[in-house]
Amino acid sequence: MWVFMPLTFAGKLISFLRQPLSFLWSSLDSLCLWLRITFWLARTKRDQLQQDKKKAEDSIEEEEENLDVPTIIPISVNYHFTRQCNYKCGFCFHTAKTSFVMPLEEVKRGLLMLKEAGMEKINFSGGEPFLPDRGDYLGKMVKFCKEELCLPSVSIVSNGSLIRKKWFKDYGNYLDILAISCDSFNEDVNALIGRGQGKKGHVENLKKLRQWCRDYRVAFKINSVINRFNVEEDMNEQIKALNPIRWKVFQCLIIEGENAGEDALREAERFVISDDEFETFLERHKDVSCLVPESNKKMKDSYLILDEYMRFLNCQNGRKDPSKSILDVGIEEAIKFSGFDEKMFLRRGGKYKWSKADLKLDW
Ligand code: SF4
Repeated sequence: MWVFMPLTFAGKLISFLRQPLSFLWSSLDSLCLWLRITFWLARTKRDQLQQDKKKAEDSIEEEEENLDVPTIIPISVNYHFTRQCNYKCGFCFHTAKTSFVMPLEEVKRGLLMLKEAGMEKINFSGGEPFLPDRGDYLGKMVKFCKEELCLPSVSIVSNGSLIRKKWFKDYGNYLDILAISCDSFNEDVNALIGRGQGKKGHVENLKKLRQWCRDYRVAFKINSVINRFNVEEDMNEQIKALNPIRWKVFQCLIIEGENAGEDALREAERFVISDDEFETFLERHKDVSCLVPESNKKMKDSYLILDEYMRFLNCQNGRKDPSKSILDVGIEEAIKFSGFDEKMFLRRGGKYKWSKADLKLDW
């Protein structure tokens, strides 16, 4: 009987405590649920606060970045309004990928927008700019830019083969500078490069154009691309005799999609020269005072290039990636994608006396 007494007592104690224990248990359960909900709410709130904080930091960073990017003013614009050309230079870096030429009235609208955004100099280039409408299309743009937009400088880069004397008579007055491309004074080398058309002599034509520039008071410039076929040449004598205001000497440049790569219309790899070879060429011509050298590094991003659709072309990635057209989104929006390196533009002497009125030439 003494053995069963504690068991009886324990049984009574359990039955006495059952109710409060089950109440306590159910309270603990509710407490746990409440704690879980509270923690969950606290965590959600903390995550939300962290997200808001990150968003605020990102937007401050974005604002700071925007403050860091100065608005680019299109002081000097190179407008490649056509890609068509009558030459077949093996290293050409603006090839005939389209035949599009914009209606003149649309072009004038774009040129006016550029002027209002700060353009002081325009250079018309191609392709061959004298090809559309036998040079009349170009002449009308040149006249518009000088007479109506009053631009301090209007220039053209051409291979020179299609320029007629009548063009100078009609439009020479509105043109500040004519740059003619000439890579060699040896016609066999020009033929190897692809600069030439049949039996027409590129060098003889160059001399004729030099004289017309004198006659019609247009400043004369020469552009040469130094490549595998002319890198050994000595051009001192001929350049000095022609006496251009500037002799731009470029190192042959590879541009993916233009003169290299699968979609390209040219394979310029065999024209490429090293930096040292380029330097040796420059050294050989150091006595030519008008020589302005442009290595690949200086050249790549220091030009503000507009294509035939009036889109800025960005060369930062070694290709020509287009922005949207300035006619669709405006200058400020399109120019953000131009990849233009203004500092390099100034360092390479991009801003110079570019108006024939300031050049005070002894014609
Ligand atoms: S003349 Fe100029 S545009 Fe024409 S093929 Fe030669 S480099 Fe290209």
